[in-house]
Amino acid sequence: MRIGVPKEIKNHEYRVGLTPQSVAELTALGHEVWIETRAGAAIGFADEDYRQAGAQIAQGAGEVFQQAQLIVKVKEPLAVERAKLREQHTLFTYLHLAPDRPQTDELMASGATCIAYETVTDAQGRLPLLAPMSEVAGRMSIQAGAGCLEKARGGRGVLLGGVPGVAPGKVVILGGGVVGSHALAMAVGLGADVTVLDKNVDALRRLDAQYGNRITTLYSTRAAVREQVLAADLVIGGVLIPGAAAPKLITADMVRQMQAGAVLVDVAIDQGGCAETSHATTHAEPTYVVDDVVHYCVANMPGAVARTSTLALNNATLPFVVALAQKGTRRALEEDVHLLAGLNVARGVITCGSVAEAHGLPF
Ligand code: NAD
Repeated sequence: MRIGVPKEIKNHEYRVGLTPQSVAELTALGHEVWIETRAGAAIGFADEDYRQAGAQIAQGAGEVFQQAQLIVKVKEPLAVERAKLREQHTLFTYLHLAPDRPQTDELMASGATCIAYETVTDAQGRLPLLAPMSEVAGRMSIQAGAGCLEKARGGRGVLLGGVPGVAPGKVVILGGGVVGSHALAMAVGLGADVTVLDKNVDALRRLDAQYGNRITTLYSTRAAVREQVLAADLVIGGVLIPGAAAPKLITADMVRQMQAGAVLVDVAIDQGGCAETSHATTHAEPTYVVDDVVHYCVANMPGAVARTSTLALNNATLPFVVALAQKGTRRALEEDVHLLAGLNVARGVITCGSVAEAHGLPF
């Protein structure tokens, strides 16, 4: 199979669809890989690394789309990329079509077969190609929050780990899923005093079994959330109700009563955020202050650590890329219901129920 990787062109997107290591796996299996020049340069993957892995370097995206049957990307294709898609292409990338009608229409019009990372499933019903980014964002949330707690950044001047003779900072994590459990790992590692709240008692049981009395787990009720948030130095918002807007667990009134200089890192901002006072920010200007509470609400946190994120994403996507290359798109989809769950658009038709429903189109 001929596989193509264009350079990502979305603003400040430095990730790349395939790492040189992934390319080496594919070329060892006899596949041809075309990488657009400088596609990985921003995160230390030089054209020469790709060449050594057996890739051909294309001088522009046009050449990649012309050569490839399978296009592997990170972000959804922008209009100029969509214009290059043809019926012979299989596109494998994040798409997020439900809120994006122009993209949906143009992918249908292209006739291409479009598989979305975010709807590929696993045997446990989870979303294995979304999980790596939640892992990254969860771990990053503590790093970001710790920085925001410094005085110069508007925080209350608290060191999360404390020092001998001084109590550690209090971290409250809302949601003990992928984001929450990875935030927890980092907060415990720093020596913070950590409390996790979730509505799913099994999630709390798992965390309790892992950390024992080094952490506190609490069932998430309005009263428990209120009490914990008001006492926190750092709050991490990592709740998710699949397919729905994030629940507003933190009201504006609670924010008013939080400690001055406390920090809220609302990771769930990509689903609207779990505080009434949250609105999306960017890496260029990640924080703002409401009632003396520093809000960090960056909607694409993994973009800041693009090298780690690319490596983590490739670990999850490579087995599917190999299956598509080895078997061809049709047989790979027929033989794997989990990859098939990722099929969003095929030859002009929407093949994903939630996307069709979002646009009122037939399915
Ligand atoms: P997940 O499904 O693994 O975990 C969510 C947890 O929230 C679950 O354990 C669920 O039981 C819990 N929950 C639901 N309602 C609750 C409530 N009322 N109180 C307490 N807990 C509640 O999801 P995840 O992968 O951890 O993702 C969490 C959020 O982070 C999602 O919105 C995801 O899109 C977002 N995310 C954002 C970024 C970013 O860059 N900002 C990156 C990755 C993920």
